[in-house]
Amino acid sequence: MKHDEVEIPSGAAFRLARARVPRCMVVGNITGADADIDGAVLLDIDIAGGRIAGISPAGLPGTRDIDLEGRMVWPTLVDMHTHLDKGEAIPRVHADGSLDGGALGTGADRANWTYEDMARRMGFGIRCAYVQGVSAIRTHLDSLDDSAEISWNVFRDLRTEWDGRVALQAVGLAPLDIFLTDYGTRLADLVAASGGILGGVTDAIGNLAGATAGSIDGLLDRFLRMAEKRGLDVDLHVDQSADIGAFFLPDVARAVMRTGFPGRVVVDHCVNLALQPEDVARETINLCAQAGIAFVTLPTPMMYLMDRAPGRTPRWRGVTLAHEIRAAGIPIALAGDNCRDAWFPYGDHDMVDIFRQGVRVFQLDHPIAETPAMVGPVPAAIIGAEGFGSIEIGRDARLILFRARSLNELMSRPQSDRIVLDRGRRVTDSLPDYTELDA
Ligand SMILES: [Zn+2]
Repeated sequence: MKHDEVEIPSGAAFRLARARVPRCMVVGNITGADADIDGAVLLDIDIAGGRIAGISPAGLPGTRDIDLEGRMVWPTLVDMHTHLDKGEAIPRVHADGSLDGGALGTGADRANWTYEDMARRMGFGIRCAYVQGVSAIRTHLDSLDDSAEISWNVFRDLRTEWDGRVALQAVGLAPLDIFLTDYGTRLADLVAASGGILGGVTDAIGNLAGATAGSIDGLLDRFLRMAEKRGLDVDLHVDQSADIGAFFLPDVARAVMRTGFPGRVVVDHCVNLALQPEDVARETINLCAQAGIAFVTLPTPMMYLMDRAPGRTPRWRGVTLAHEIRAAGIPIALAGDNCRDAWFPYGDHDMVDIFRQGVRVFQLDHPIAETPAMVGPVPAAIIGAEGFGSIEIGRDARLILFRARSLNELMSRPQSDRIVLDRGRRVTDSLPDYTELDA
């Protein structure tokens, strides 16, 4: 049947016949399935009670099956790095394309961050993601002073409200030197009490001081000790700058090994790794592999922010060494980052869009076969979102049904007519309307 004719029976058991699925997004033995030029396999997917009940190489479709005729089916996706607290604030905030403008514009907007304002904007962002097929989100929450209590209250309430539909995680984001203060201890306690992740920033941006070569070791040791004491994972904004001297990634790797930090460590951005001499970059990637660090790259805001000057064409893409990091066997995910705020004025929390842009920015094609993993199974594993981001027997049936029959077709149109299933049921909500934000 045609894409427009697909009807998902509510509550019943049904079969999605002849679904084309990227091999890297399926868990299990599917020997014998027909594979296309990009390694995507043709499968029958049985759904019962909202779960994946069976996966098998496609056979002849039965008359009661939903015959997808080889159109793509993906798991719903994981956005492991965003900033829901700042987002959906255009035109109240203004973006000027600079990092300092992002920090200062956000700082000025914080006066508006009441519970109601944050709940409206953050809820809007989550709905955009959900309707477009995102089921797990890790957001950073600016946590610079005690007013962060409001953000964490909103977050905890939204996590409860969305439980079952979108799994939400939050990172308390603050400059590292905050953890030398009494407030830093309160923040770590708040993050622990909220089931969050401890976050930090190494860079000097806006009016944040940032780390220095002399201070970084002490700051990282303190930060990691505070996380370890509370059993927290950590997630750090690192080297979000074109200044090759402001390069703290090797220090993070060494600190993780020096302290024997037992939790998960994620580093975000790391863009000036791409500007280092080859030998420095290689040694740093090896260090990160030894330290067991995972990466997330955020290509859309970095392309927007990095190497920008009025009247001058940017000369580099502003992103990290994704190919080399992958080649070293280190997990690296693609994620969305800021959305319609002072740092980045565009975006819709659509991880299919991030995938399509990420492929182009990084040239993650030819072959493209393993690239879909960077928005599904890889981020799910990095953030411990068990059961999300891949298609596996016994898991909830959270799926995206595309009109595209191949990764080429998926790359070439926006797939705005995708069908999203949440635990076997079609998501019929529309994208939230921007007029909701007018107040
Ligand atoms: Zn970020």
